[in-house]
Parts: sequence; C-alpha cells; structure tokens
Amino acid sequence: MVNSGKEMLSSAQQLISQTGKRMGLEQELINRLVLPERIIEFALPLEKDDGRLEVLIGYRSQHNNLRGPYKGGIRFHQNVTREEVQALSLLMTIKTAVANIPMGGGKGGIAVDPKSLSKAELRKLSKLYAQKLAPFMGQDIDIPAPDVNTNPQIMQWMLEEYEAIKGKKEPSAFTGKAVEHGGSLGREEATGYGGVIALEELLSRLQLDKQRPLTIAIQGFGNVGYFFSEAAYSKGHQIVAISDSKGGITAHETGNLEPKLVIDCKKEQGSIAGCYCVGGLCDSSNGENITNEQLLELPVDILVPAALETVITSKNMQNIKAKIIVEMANGPITEEAREYLTHKGVYILPDVLANAGGVIVSYLEWVQGKQGYWWSKKEVIARLEEIMKSAFSDVWTRSAEKDIDLKSAAFEVALQRLTAQL
Ligand code: NAD
Repeated sequence: MVNSGKEMLSSAQQLISQTGKRMGLEQELINRLVLPERIIEFALPLEKDDGRLEVLIGYRSQHNNLRGPYKGGIRFHQNVTREEVQALSLLMTIKTAVANIPMGGGKGGIAVDPKSLSKAELRKLSKLYAQKLAPFMGQDIDIPAPDVNTNPQIMQWMLEEYEAIKGKKEPSAFTGKAVEHGGSLGREEATGYGGVIALEELLSRLQLDKQRPLTIAIQGFGNVGYFFSEAAYSKGHQIVAISDSKGGITAHETGNLEPKLVIDCKKEQGSIAGCYCVGGLCDSSNGENITNEQLLELPVDILVPAALETVITSKNMQNIKAKIIVEMANGPITEEAREYLTHKGVYILPDVLANAGGVIVSYLEWVQGKQGYWWSKKEVIARLEEIMKSAFSDVWTRSAEKDIDLKSAAFEVALQRLTAQL
C-alpha cells in the first residue's frame, strides 16, 4: 500500500497521455493537462494533549482550474503522500469535467492516522491545516470537502478557522458541511446514491435491468459503501458481502445482507465481523467472516471497491469473477488490471463517473451557499439524478461511437471539455 500513490499517479497520467494521443492532441497540451498547476506542502506542528510537539505533513494539490475553482476533498490517512494527493487531484479535474460542472480539480491530505488522535488534537490539526491553506483557497479559488477519515465536523472546524482569518462569512469556501452549518441536504448520501444511479443506467443499457436480484459485493463500509449498499438494496439487488478495514462478511450466494442492520451491528460491535448474523439465525450456512482479499474474488455479478485505491492489481486480476465493477473508491484498479479485465469483457464503471455524485452535490451545496437559499432533499437528489444520468449518457455514447471502454470514453469526454477552454 505504501507505494500505491506513485502507482495511481502513473496510471492516471498514463491515461491522460494515451487519451490525448488517441484524440490527436499536441504534446504541449497533454503536458498542460498532466501536470498540476500548484502543489502546496506544509509542516503542521501539532501540540499533543501531553504537551509533546509532533510535526505532521499536509498537502494540497491544485491540479487544474480551466473550468472553475479547484475542487476536491481532504483525507487524513497514514498512507497519504504527495503523489497520492497529486493523482487524486488529477482525477478530480477529469471528474468535474465528466460531470460537466463548472469546477476544476484539487485534493488535499495529511499523513496521519486520525484514530491515534484525541478529539481535541483532531480539532487543532484541522484548524492548523485551514490556517496553512487559507491564503490559497476561497469559494472562487479552491473549495475543499471531506474525503477518507474526514467529515462535516472537520469541515466546520476548518471553515471556522478560515472565516476567522478572512474576517467574513463564506460558507461556500468548504462543502460537505453539516446541514445546520450551511451544508446541503442529500450530500451525505450523494456519492453512494450517485453510484447506484450510474449502475442502473449501465444495467439498462446492457439490458440487465429486468434481471433482479443481481448479486453485489462491497469493499468498504464507510460513507460511500454504506449509502451505495442501501440504495442498491432498495433497488432490489442482493448484497452478498460487505467489508471494512478489519475484514468482511458474506451471506453466501443465497443470502442478502440488509445494510441498515449491518451498520447498526457495526456501530454496536466496532467492526462488521460476525454481523452476518443480524436479522436471521446465526450459523455458518447463513454467512461467515471473510478477508478483504476473498471479498474481491467472490463469484458475484457486481463488485464495488469502495474503500481505498489500488486494490485490484496484476496480483489478483486473474481471480476477479464479477461481470461489472463499479469503482466507487478513487483509483481502485491499476491500469494493467483494467486493461486485462476490459479485455476479458468486464464492464468497469470508472471512478471519474461512478463516484461523481459527491462532487456534484458539493457543487449544489456551493451554489446554495452562494445564493443563500437552500433546496429540499428531494430537489437536490433530483438534480443529482439529472446530472449523473446526463454524464453517464455522454460517456456511454462516446464509448459506443469510438468502440472504447467506459474509462477511456470518460477521459475523452473530459479532455474535450477541458481543451475547449484553451
Ligand atoms: P470512509 O472513511 O467513510 O470509509 C472508508 C471505508 O473503507 C471504511 O469502512 C473503512 O473501514 C474501509 N477501509 C479502510 N481501509 C480498508 C482496507 N485496507 N480494506 C478494506 N476496507 C478498508 O471513506 P469514504 O468517504 O466512504 O470514501 C471511500 C472511498 O470513496 C475513497 O476512495 C474516497 O476517495 C472515495 N470517494 C469518496 C467520496 C465521498 O463523498 N465521501 C466521493 C468520491 C470518492
């Protein structure tokens, strides 16, 4: 996992270069889109509760703002590196262009295990990060949001610090805020729901929409994994496996895990191991614990990596049995594995489309904050659905016209929209 940032960066840059060449773009133009406009790296001297000083490293990569202000999350994770943040910011540039929203691409992070910090230390660290980024951000410049291990509370701490420095209210400087602090209804569910909207579009184009239930295995049961599973379950699909960082559970090919019951069980127990028992008799024919590696290789119709990057690689690609993979995490499949699986006939709904729901509702939150008028959840979800369906349709049409896979098509759509600004 330690080098995964480098691998993801090289995969993403390779994709832009290949796409640009296929489209006949000049090399100078390709370089312009590959390289970030600015990467800020800052030392964050955190005074711990016991008085010790720990200096952590934080990053913000502002990849491209041709179509609007830089936009992207901030993650707190021990494996965060400069390369990982750069790769994720590049993917954000592509994602906002695929979604056709007036924003560019950015990403930030701190190399820290947030579970090792007290609440007071986490608050201090979030405010330190906002202090360092304040001169380089703002609602029309760069708009951060939550990502892995960050949440509305952390956004609120950062916004408070940012507004104190600027001496004014500016709710649209951050998105992913709690509703009572200027957040949007529907933002919490947006990424997971958006993924299911895209999946349903794909199933309908593949004429699989009448076939219910389809079996689904989901790696990662945080914000994205949970809301994806909830929406997929409510659409009549069968959730046969779920995992988190501590491992997973499967209900075998015949069982169905009810997401709401599993999340309640996880909250009670602290992990989801053993949660296959909920809502039914607990014996091993009902389900069992499995590893994250086993989950990826289950014989399911749809596999949903919704945790971290680079989990499907040359090492396990031959063991993947799913017919459809929905990339809800960013960069979960390496280029080599993508080419292999695409050649094998697997449909991969690419991250830059599948998980765009989060940034789409972040954009809707930004619009609402700027106009000082908030919409109902129904309105927000309806707009999300409209934008996701339109993005899917653009990518699908390009894929059919050029006889290329969905990720290549998504990159073409994005590069066309980006170069139109030059
Ligand atoms: P989260 O922190 O809420 O949840 C992450 C989940 O992954 C947790 O269940 C955690 O236990 C699990 N996990 C962590 N390490 C794991 C490992 N090694 N193996 C298996 N599971 C592991 O994060 P999230 O917001 O759900 O984000 C998940 C992914 O989706 C990330 O790649 C993120 O970049 C991407 N994403 C998130 C959003 C969003 O709006 N939250 C938007 C777009 C993309």
